[in-house]
Amino acid sequence: MATPHQATPPPSAESPPLVNNSNRMSNKAKELHSLVDDELIASVAWLTRLRWFAGLSVVLASWFVKIVFKFQAPYAPLSAIGACILFYNLLFFLIERRLIETSAPVRSYRWLAMSQVGLDWLAMTLLIHFSGGIESPAILFFIFHIIIASILFSPRTAYAFTCLAIVFISTIALLEHFSLLTHRPIIGYLEFPLYQNNYYVAAVLVFFSSTGLIATYLTSAIQERLRRREKEVVMLTESLQRATDRLQALNDGARTVSSTLELPQVLKRLVRNTADVIGVFACSIRLLDNTGQRLEPEASYGLSQTYLDKGPVEIENNPLARQVLSGHIINVPDVSKSSLLQYPDWAVQEGIQSILSAPLLGKDGPLGIIRAYSDKPDHFTADDESFLAAIAAQGSIAIENAMAYQVIANLDATKTTFIRTVTHELRSPVSVTRSLLRTITDGYTGQLNEQQRDILERANRRIDFLQKLIDDLLDLAAGKVEVQSKQSLEPIVLDEILQKVITRFEVPARAKGVSLEWHKETKGQPTIIHATIDGLDRIFDNLVGNAVKYTLTNGKVTLNLSHVNEGAWVTIEDTGIGISEESLGHLFEEFYRAPNARALEREGTGLGLTIVKNLVTRFGGRIAVQSTQGIGTRFTVILPRYFIF
Ligand code: ADP
Repeated sequence: MATPHQATPPPSAESPPLVNNSNRMSNKAKELHSLVDDELIASVAWLTRLRWFAGLSVVLASWFVKIVFKFQAPYAPLSAIGACILFYNLLFFLIERRLIETSAPVRSYRWLAMSQVGLDWLAMTLLIHFSGGIESPAILFFIFHIIIASILFSPRTAYAFTCLAIVFISTIALLEHFSLLTHRPIIGYLEFPLYQNNYYVAAVLVFFSSTGLIATYLTSAIQERLRRREKEVVMLTESLQRATDRLQALNDGARTVSSTLELPQVLKRLVRNTADVIGVFACSIRLLDNTGQRLEPEASYGLSQTYLDKGPVEIENNPLARQVLSGHIINVPDVSKSSLLQYPDWAVQEGIQSILSAPLLGKDGPLGIIRAYSDKPDHFTADDESFLAAIAAQGSIAIENAMAYQVIANLDATKTTFIRTVTHELRSPVSVTRSLLRTITDGYTGQLNEQQRDILERANRRIDFLQKLIDDLLDLAAGKVEVQSKQSLEPIVLDEILQKVITRFEVPARAKGVSLEWHKETKGQPTIIHATIDGLDRIFDNLVGNAVKYTLTNGKVTLNLSHVNEGAWVTIEDTGIGISEESLGHLFEEFYRAPNARALEREGTGLGLTIVKNLVTRFGGRIAVQSTQGIGTRFTVILPRYFIF
């Protein structure tokens, strides 16, 4: 069996995962680590800078005391200490540069800082010894050093250094006190020596020790609190980042859901994004089958085929599925110990340790389950539960939309097939009947009296209408099939089509007393459209035919062709009966006829505009209508022009 990681498919190029969580987690650890460490590295540099100043101060101060106060002191050792400080600081400076160049681990900086403080301690102790031991005012400087060490190191190391300072000072004081070490006073500074005064020595040592320890305690406490805050800030930034990622995933999901009705595509994106954002290795969606008793895998990410094929997920035998489908989000923190799973051994083999499941709920009940699988036990938080619930809600909408679309598409296909079959069957008997009626009407079967002629004329009109209806229905059905296929388009000169249509309607328009005009504003350029001849003819035949049909005597129909940017604009304007506001909204619906049109012309299929709209859409164009009842109507067809380079 494949391990979960072997089973994880590589991210596809078409849509990169939103975030790589595992990377982010390790980045986070690095970030947290480096914040504290950066501080140490910066502090080491700061300490080196300070020490230049300290070394120089020691040298200068000893000469200053000599020249200004004329005290006698062991100037040579004091200057030597100052020089030593400068010298070892130079060494530390060089080492630090080297560490930076070689990107040394933080450990090296820690050792460097400890060595620096250790040597400083020694230098301070010698400085104190050569400036009067327990009587030296330089003893106070140790407190600064203690504070610096407490800032740099952990409380434990800081206390260790403080104790070391106390031991150093006490040793010097006691050795000098018991004359085991020569006392080196600054002669002229004190009127009488204090280093052998028991009370003085004891008091200074007690106060020095307690001040040192209190300073360590206070500084460490403040420093600890700051470090905690710093960690909190990093954690908060991290959780903010996670929240942003989740929001982005939801947003992305919403976009996918609204951008396509292709169910597999939507579900595939959902499972992948969910796994990425929750930071788990796998995610799956199972939907209820027609029986409502089984859950079938519909989309999965990160799971092996073997695991998906493990066996049917039956509601009856799967307590987890039952609980989830009843509307609960269920967290199984430890798969090996849970009694809710139907296939616990398979899950363990797959490397799954914890599972979070949320129901996909439709309007009329449960649709299925979305699951996130982790290879760590107790992985999922309350945040993850809310997120999965939100993703599940999105998934449910997508599933319902896609299902509804599928039903409509199926119905439409059935309807189209039905229309095609029936009308096809009707076509030949109607044509035969039509030509037989014509034969009788034209007198080939003998003379007709007035009444017979009248009846036959009416029969002819009805059969003509039937023929038109059949043609329209067949066109409509064929149009739908063609719209889907998008084939057989070719460059056509629109001007010629329009001219033919106008010529066709000249006689009927004149017979009705309607004037018919057509204008071209194309600056002599031909208008080429990527379409079919029949299609373009059908569009303008219908629109011009309607304009003539719904315009009364003395009215006017004007056709205009112009170029606007890349588009060909054709307007068909009439001064006819117009269309009411209410009817405008239904105009392109199949079989729709406005009441005023029905009153004027009994015959009409209400299919012409539907066919027109289908064809215009197929040719990449759009159609608009403006009308005022009783005044007139203007249809505008905009088709993209075809350019041959
Ligand atoms: P038909 O003309 O066979 O009724 P159409 O689909 O071509 O079917 O038109 C649908 C309806 O749109 C018409 O019944 C009519 O109400 C309205 N219509 C279309 N063109 C015009 C027009 N130029 N003026 C007024 N009404 C129109």
